[in-house]
Amino acid sequence: MYTSFLNDLSSILDSSAICCHANMAHYTSFKAGGHADILLFISDEQQLQTSLALLKSYHFPYMIIGNGTNLLVKDTGYPGILIRFSNENIAPAINDTIIEAHAGTSLSTLSQSAASAGLGGLEFLSGIPGTIGGAIYMNAGAYGGEIKDVLSHVQVLQPNGSKTTLPAENLGFSYRTSLFQSNSNIILRAAFQTTFASPASIYNKMNSFNALRREKQPLDYPSAGSTFKRPPGHYAGQLIEQCGLKGRGVGGAKVSEKHAGFIINYNRATAQDILDTIDMVSRAVLKTFDIQLEPEVQILG
Ligand SMILES: Cc1cc2nc3c(=O)[nH]c(=O)nc-3n(C[C@H](O)[C@H](O)[C@H](O)COP(=O)(O)OP(=O)(O)OC[C@H]3O[C@@H](n4cnc5c(N)ncnc54)[C@H](O)[C@@H]3O)c2cc1C
Repeated sequence: MYTSFLNDLSSILDSSAICCHANMAHYTSFKAGGHADILLFISDEQQLQTSLALLKSYHFPYMIIGNGTNLLVKDTGYPGILIRFSNENIAPAINDTIIEAHAGTSLSTLSQSAASAGLGGLEFLSGIPGTIGGAIYMNAGAYGGEIKDVLSHVQVLQPNGSKTTLPAENLGFSYRTSLFQSNSNIILRAAFQTTFASPASIYNKMNSFNALRREKQPLDYPSAGSTFKRPPGHYAGQLIEQCGLKGRGVGGAKVSEKHAGFIINYNRATAQDILDTIDMVSRAVLKTFDIQLEPEVQILG
């Protein structure tokens, strides 16, 4: 089915950037789930554009991913092509208080670069293990900040293959939501508005946020962070804990004893174990509190 496509693709990408029948447990932070028919590792915008044009000419389903820290691929796999768009080799560019970076840059690299240049405001992002692209798509946030608060503008690749720059105000952000969840634009680059601050005060903030994470979150186990979105007026973790579900789960997945908002893969869970645990938790919270939880983790396949 993919023979001719792979043949054409070999003139665009090195063979090391093409993985057939890719085990997505290796590329997602849940460390569970099925295979993608093909996984491409792309770091360069031009290669991304050319590969996408080829892909579209074959009409294969595809999706862009970042670090896979908010993804669960079903055990039956993803029937199509996943493109891992990441790049840690291009340092963010700084112009006065604006810092601009490739969408595949990790949030920790972004916030470290800002900190070492004495640019504050991005500290809350430093412990989120995703890329800039994934974080903008999700409007990721922590400790009172959301990425929308510090984003200035993005450069995107539109479905028609052209690039355009969009200001943050036009990106339909709200809690864990952005316009990117309802269009097929791919985020290529992003620029952030920071403020001058002393590197020492920035590192202090980052260190205290990250110490809080280590204290409160089950970072020793594979997960996708908070499994559910926060229902209006509540915290998902508190509701789950009040249902007595800490430590309860299905197969190798369970609600973390350390933080009930996290479902963890503690013993070789399948994606179905995780999905069944999500279902069990959702039903219990609905029954007890009449509140419908909505998963934050993106489910593929
Ligand atoms: C231990 C742990 C702690 C976490 N803590 C937090 C937290 O404090 N706050 C928080 O908000 N999240 C948190 N998360 C969840 C996750 O890290 C964030 O949602 C992160 O922003 C996802 O980025 P990613 O690169 O891994 O995206 P992925 O999981 O790879 O993808 C997520 C979505 O983004 C889309 N996407 C990725 N790149 C692009 C692109 N370039 N263009 C368009 N769409 C794209 C994908 O299609 C997918 O739908 C945590 C996760 C873990 C494992």
